[in-house]
Amino acid sequence: MDALTKACAWLFPQYCQLCAQPLNAGQQVCAHCISAFTGINGALQENLLMRADIQRQFPLRYIDGLQALDWYRPPLSTWLKQYKYQQRMYRQVALSSLLTHHFARLANQPDWHWPQLVAPIPLAPSRLIWRGFNQVVRLWQDALPQQLFAANLLRRRHSTRTQARLGARQRRKNLTNAFSVHANVHNLDIALVDDVLTTGATLDSAAKLLKAAGARSVSAWVVCLTAKT
Ligand SMILES: [Zn+2]
Repeated sequence: MDALTKACAWLFPQYCQLCAQPLNAGQQVCAHCISAFTGINGALQENLLMRADIQRQFPLRYIDGLQALDWYRPPLSTWLKQYKYQQRMYRQVALSSLLTHHFARLANQPDWHWPQLVAPIPLAPSRLIWRGFNQVVRLWQDALPQQLFAANLLRRRHSTRTQARLGARQRRKNLTNAFSVHANVHNLDIALVDDVLTTGATLDSAAKLLKAAGARSVSAWVVCLTAKT
């Protein structure tokens, strides 16, 4: 194997990341594993907040609908970490293919309707520069209809402190006035996308702002939900 072939194999391995069977170039999860993946949403609910256990864990005041692929657990937690912190792009391809399938299933449900806009939670400018790009945007842009995407709908007003080390109350305080809205959202249904929902404080504060700006409904779509231990 020459060096270039080795490098390509490392960057984009050609086997299914769930069952390890060989795959065609460009795929990272085989069709069988994609359709067999059930995650958190086996029975496919159009809104996870209808589940009492999830509603109890995430007291979201301004969010009307919730979608997630799974709890924050392997393999998805591992894939997210390797994508975000080790730049393993093939993990992004795998995650996006699971998201694509998930939303295709939802779109087949009789009561499902797409929002008019899908917007990512923006990174603080300092973190954007450090990482080079907003990885969450890439994850979702590859999975959803392009025309829905409003990448700059929300902007950060100022560099908020890293949320990860703060408690729920501090998170809410930290987020007051963190975002601004940059489009007319009056009477629109909007979905906010992110990678992981931990307390939901970030998403809820962005939803509060969008509601104040006239949005009809705000949903949160994430890859994983962090279960309270
Ligand atoms: Zn497979």
